[in-house]
Amino acid sequence: MNQGQDMNCDELVEVVTDFLDDALDAATRRRFTEHLAECDGCDAYVGQLRTTIGLTGTLRADDLQPDLRDRLLTAFRDWKAHPSPR
Ligand SMILES: [Zn+2]
Repeated sequence: MNQGQDMNCDELVEVVTDFLDDALDAATRRRFTEHLAECDGCDAYVGQLRTTIGLTGTLRADDLQPDLRDRLLTAFRDWKAHPSPR
């Protein structure tokens, strides 16, 4: 683990299920929430997962399809490379 370093989007996605299960250690959870605060893409992603849990009552690793995950991450990177004009 990269303890003490800023979390990036890839790492956040890796641990998001543990976060939602409240299974992260305190240090990782803090880095997770710090990343969420400064990354709209991941904030939206976690919000989407929370909505899924709200609808289904649970979230299993199976629900995180790798291709969907990769598409989300690609979308985040595109969004960061080309922020929408305001
Ligand atoms: Zn992110």
